[in-house]
Amino acid sequence: MAMEDLNLDAYWMPFTAKRYFEAHPERRILARAEGAYYWTEDGHKLYDGLSGLWCCGLGHRHPKIVDAVKKQLDTLDYGTAFQMGHAPAFTLAERIADMAPDGFSKVFFCNSGSEAVDTALKISLAYHRIRGDAARTRLIGREKGYHGVGFAGISVGGMVANRKMYSSSMLAGVDHLPHTHKLEKMAFSRGEPDWGAHLADELIRLVQLHDASTIAAVIVEPMQGSAGVIVPPKGYLKRLRELCTQYGILLIFDEVICGFGRMGAPFAAQHYDVKPDLITFAKGVNNGMVPMGGVIVTDEIYKAFMTGPEHAVEFFHGYTYSGHPLAVAAAHATLDILEEEDIYARANDLSQVLEEAVHGLKGEPNVIDIRNCRLAAAVEFAPIEGRPGYRALRVFEEGLKRGVLFRFTGDIIAMGPPMISTPDEITRMADVLADAIRAAG
Ligand code: PMP
Repeated sequence: MAMEDLNLDAYWMPFTAKRYFEAHPERRILARAEGAYYWTEDGHKLYDGLSGLWCCGLGHRHPKIVDAVKKQLDTLDYGTAFQMGHAPAFTLAERIADMAPDGFSKVFFCNSGSEAVDTALKISLAYHRIRGDAARTRLIGREKGYHGVGFAGISVGGMVANRKMYSSSMLAGVDHLPHTHKLEKMAFSRGEPDWGAHLADELIRLVQLHDASTIAAVIVEPMQGSAGVIVPPKGYLKRLRELCTQYGILLIFDEVICGFGRMGAPFAAQHYDVKPDLITFAKGVNNGMVPMGGVIVTDEIYKAFMTGPEHAVEFFHGYTYSGHPLAVAAAHATLDILEEEDIYARANDLSQVLEEAVHGLKGEPNVIDIRNCRLAAAVEFAPIEGRPGYRALRVFEEGLKRGVLFRFTGDIIAMGPPMISTPDEITRMADVLADAIRAAG
């Protein structure tokens, strides 16, 4: 379709400044994708610097995933999700549980990261109640945390822009740990910052304030992706684990971005060698081809739900599209590729290239921090006085003109390149970023 014939009016777009979009639609209407690239309706080729929205790490339209989805359509399109199931959903749950750290053995399916977060929080509350600990209802999130856009997710989340319109309607009994993004202490760290592990001890303050007997769970992203790749300080997650264990609080790792390869391991839990009690996932589980999310739990949590009267529904929760056959088929193919194409090793190798390339941008105009965490990285800029976020938007625009799609959030440019990229593509992305930064001024 010719760009001029496209009416942009009716589609109220997610997380998009629509008036700005309508004024600048150039290079923004996607026509097709393959591997690490998009092509736009107006004929531009873009390197996909964020793997979709962190979800297409194996590249777009991977032929094995495409084939699996097509094949699934020949047998079962949709399968009633309640009181019924189809075989591949059971085998997928088993495969995902096997990829998780020891002790994780059960998987609940849903359709997005937001739903996964809702599900994990509900499991946590119900778990304590089933065990006779009904006073444990308080949830602890973290400043700058992103856990999707449901009311639960924005409540435990710590993104002010996502919360401010709904302040009186959020979940009650939620508190937040401080974020770990202190530029004056950690700017330009390579990988995990040395400073900041002690910030986990803020949980002790919350325990003293509320009493441990009222706290159900702590939820954190091991690496905070949406806030602009905020990397956990060395030892921080381990300390959080120790404290949660000490106070009988469940620890949830929201691995919607980290899971399925980007950390050079199946999950961040393995990369950081810290075992939470629940893991949420979405995005990379099936390479973004069909919406899917889920929660992995330990045997111990699951067993608590199996102690009630037989024939009752043990966990009264689910979605029409839980374990959707197309999503499941795409996920099986994705897990095959992760194994067969040695993706963790590739992600690890590329992450060295990414680290060198992005830290080479130190000294470019207005760059005040550069961060990296395995195959994720971010560059932060000094804001323009009175126009927060505008500098990164300009860099994003200049990137588009030069054929690279970055993600901007606040005054930060984030990168999460496809794991199937070549080293040259990663260095070229960083070169384009350098040019875009200079052009943006
Ligand atoms: N949790 C985390 C850590 C995320 O990064 C995201 C999405 N970026 C979500 C939850 C929400 O996922 P979705 O957009 O699929 O609802």
